[in-house]
Amino acid sequence: MGNHRAHRGSARDHSATPVAGRRKADRKPARHPLLRALPSGPIVAGVAALAISAGGAINAADADPVGSLTTQPGAMAAVGSTGLANVAPLRSRQAIVSRDSRRDALADAANEKLVAQAEAQAEQQHAALQQFAKAAEKQAAKIKENQWVLPLASYRISAPFGDSSYLWSSVHTGLDMSAPSGTTISSVANGVVTEMGYDGSYGNKTVVTLDDGTEIWYCHQTSFLVSTGDVVRGGEAIGTVGSTGNSTGPHLHIEVRPGAGDPVDPFTAFLEHGITP
Ligand SMILES: [Zn+2]
Repeated sequence: MGNHRAHRGSARDHSATPVAGRRKADRKPARHPLLRALPSGPIVAGVAALAISAGGAINAADADPVGSLTTQPGAMAAVGSTGLANVAPLRSRQAIVSRDSRRDALADAANEKLVAQAEAQAEQQHAALQQFAKAAEKQAAKIKENQWVLPLASYRISAPFGDSSYLWSSVHTGLDMSAPSGTTISSVANGVVTEMGYDGSYGNKTVVTLDDGTEIWYCHQTSFLVSTGDVVRGGEAIGTVGSTGNSTGPHLHIEVRPGAGDPVDPFTAFLEHGITP
């Protein structure tokens, strides 16, 4: 630095008549080109570090200032990105590596914990899904089985299927369920009303054709609550108990005709469809 100043002083020739005040005034503007010529910040810092380390080396009576640089961590840090950084002690590199591997181990442990948690969660979800699937399967089976509901909330079986009596031309083609007149009759399952009206000895009759094609005949009704073409659900009211047609008292004569064919025992059909009359 001192050399620069001395050089600059000699380069200028306007100081032929030295006037203290004027020299001062002249020097000020002259500083700007000098400052611009100085190296930028980081390099200055590097030079300063070299100067410091050189001083340290001298103090330690080391003959080789570069050698002293490699053993002084402070100097290494100060030098930073200069070529000297390449001789950074292996010890510190190992420290970095071991610190990294420890961090990796911690990260691995954390990951393992997360994975375990995720696996446990997935297992729980899987179990829940299986349970759900099982329930859905059961429900599907129920639908497939076409589980029925009883047509009357309260009744007494007054005549079984297949009975022979003076009342019938052949054998009894249905099941008689005795109940007070006006008792609500419910459809035993989902279906469509395919017939509705008075039918001789059957009296007021409603036929509901279930989804599987089975016809259910509801006979001797006092009143109708649905019309032909109506879509009904299991348990939905379709009429009321009566004694119309060939009947000796209020009761529901119910017939079950699979595939709209010959009648089968309604009692057995009820059992087959999950209800016990
Ligand atoms: Zn009957």
